Amino acid sequence: MLVIMRHGASDEQIQTVISFIKKKGFDTHVSHGELHTVIGAVGGKVIDPRDIELLDGVKEVIKITSSYKLASRIFQPQDTVIEVNGVKFGGEYCGVIAGPCTIESLEQMEETAKQLSQKGVKILRGGAFKPRTSPYAFQGLGEEGLKIIRDVADKYGMAVTSEVMEISQIPMFMKYVDILQVGARNMQNFNLLRELGYINKPVIIKRGLSATFEELLMAAEYVMSGGNRQIILCERGIRTFEKTTRNTLDLCAIPVIKKLSHLPIIIDPSHGTGLRDKVAPMSRAAVAAGCDGLIIEVHYDPDTALCDGAQSLYPDQFGELYSDLKKIAPIVGKKIDNEQTVEV
Ligand code: PEP
Ligand code: MN
Repeated sequence: MLVIMRHGASDEQIQTVISFIKKKGFDTHVSHGELHTVIGAVGGKVIDPRDIELLDGVKEVIKITSSYKLASRIFQPQDTVIEVNGVKFGGEYCGVIAGPCTIESLEQMEETAKQLSQKGVKILRGGAFKPRTSPYAFQGLGEEGLKIIRDVADKYGMAVTSEVMEISQIPMFMKYVDILQVGARNMQNFNLLRELGYINKPVIIKRGLSATFEELLMAAEYVMSGGNRQIILCERGIRTFEKTTRNTLDLCAIPVIKKLSHLPIIIDPSHGTGLRDKVAPMSRAAVAAGCDGLIIEVHYDPDTALCDGAQSLYPDQFGELYSDLKKIAPIVGKKIDNEQTVEV
């Protein structure tokens, strides 16, 4: 249930409504919009909306029928904008994250980060704990990998995103990483999602291989219900009957999520297609469709990559794509990487 306060409702009136709802056993979440303050009431049992409507300063009470509430556009009409290292995701901003699939060595991260930062990239990706289909495949360098990506990112003034696989790793990730990533295979690891609700760093939630948009938004709701509102949703391709590409990149995610939710939606064209030559066209399409960001795999030497080389761009290919995206974005009213001046 959402309580929309009148324009200009006083703090005291807002507090009275919050205490009333809390006394009925609900949790409250407040969103201060440009025009109205909205109070979301979640988790309680019964409450008669008329009792709230009668309180001073209340404009109306809306019952939300969707299963997600805090993630919904009704709770917060204005776009959530998340800023990391000067890069913004959401609203008029489209942020770019790039880097290798996996952290392999100091040299590999150093060379890749150097080339990306020269092109203007401000957020570096790289997995230290890899969710591999085969237990015999390279599983990542673990904490050692996180140390490497942190050191290299610091050297080039970059922020770091990396995938967290389980609750016990969260404190370690808080030390090294600026954005915690929940992988597609963990999108419905509800215990992990719940714990990420208690941290104060942004979380990227990747859409599960066969997850509906509603399920993706429910994953965000898990994190948000713990108090963490800094959620970035990510479409990374779903499993379909098509075999030509690794996954089917569902760009409908952009208009659909934007209508249902205020949260930023970014696109991963690398896992979404699985093939290097498909990454640039799908990135351009995603920006044209109004995505709030991109996460792209780039390796300084993809032919030697330990993981996902075939879908990783060469740095020069990335550079060309990056400048194309900057031309496309303004057509749909967006800015790539906050329009920092960049030599490409
Ligand atoms: C990744 O981004 O490193 C990754 C493993 O992606 P996904 O969870 O989407 O497969
Ligand atoms: Mn990968």
